[in-house]
Amino acid sequence: MLTEIVTDEQLIKLYTTPGYLVAVDYSKEEVKLHTIDCMLADPISTIGVKPSKARKNKTGEFWFSESRDEANSKAEEIAQKRGINYSVCPICSP
Ligand SMILES: [Zn+2]
Repeated sequence: MLTEIVTDEQLIKLYTTPGYLVAVDYSKEEVKLHTIDCMLADPISTIGVKPSKARKNKTGEFWFSESRDEANSKAEEIAQKRGINYSVCPICSP
């Protein structure tokens, strides 16, 4: 099931649930697919995504799914709709 992540806390709670994060950055015009335990998908890390802030400033959106296919489909849909680049993260390479 696809779930929209709107707060950092929501994402932190998912850390031990195997799954995938679709991270959309409107300013960078990119969609990235991560495994949920990637350091770039960790709001606690200084280099990690910050869903609460992105939501507040309308700079991005985040989706979680336990299914890679489902996460991948959502990422492709967003990339196509917004005409932006989609790639998988080179660090966690999901
Ligand atoms: Zn990653």
